[in-house]
Parts: sequence; structure tokens; C-alpha cells
Amino acid sequence: MAFTPAQQQAIIGAFTAKTGNQAKCPGCGKDSFTLGQGIVYLQLSDIVQPNPLMGLTMKFGGPSLPSIPVICATCGNTQLYNVFVLGVAQALGIQQAPLIVEEGSK
Ligand SMILES: [Zn+2]
Repeated sequence: MAFTPAQQQAIIGAFTAKTGNQAKCPGCGKDSFTLGQGIVYLQLSDIVQPNPLMGLTMKFGGPSLPSIPVICATCGNTQLYNVFVLGVAQALGIQQAPLIVEEGSK
């Protein structure tokens, strides 16, 4: 899936605004990035359950955090930005409630 030009513009605009156009790569310190052409779904897993026969087991198939990959043009370090916090979920057609807890909302 590639982003449409409008979606790409929304993402780049939000990234530039949210970072105050001051984003630096944590790997190399440069400030030139490319946008990964798709959404990365970081999958959340249930709590690890001890199993006496098989050791620790995990339950897969849980909810996920849709994220935008931003790739450093110099070293390739890839950062992921949550679509809800970035404010681009609607532009991407993602309507599911975010699975994050904002500070002070408890
Ligand atoms: Zn870098």
C-alpha cells in the first residue's frame, strides 16, 4: 500500500508540525528523512503466561498500534510514529480507537 499524495502531504505536515521541524535522527544526528510507503501495525500481545510444559507462552493476534515509518535518509534508522498521536488517522481512513492511554486520562 502506498500513500496517496494527499495522505503523504498530511503525514509530512503533521510530522513537521509535531516535531517543530527539529527532528534529528537518534542514530546519526542528521535531519533528512524519507517516508515509508505504508502503515506498520505494532501488534500488542497478551500478558505472558507461565506454562509448566512449554515454558513461557504468548498469545498472538491481539490489537495493534498503527504507526507511520519514518526512515533516516543517511543511516536508515527507522522510527515509528503513532497515527493517532500524529493526528493522521482520519486522513488514512483509520477509525479504530487508539489503544494508548494518554497521560492524566486515568
Ligand atoms: Zn540516521
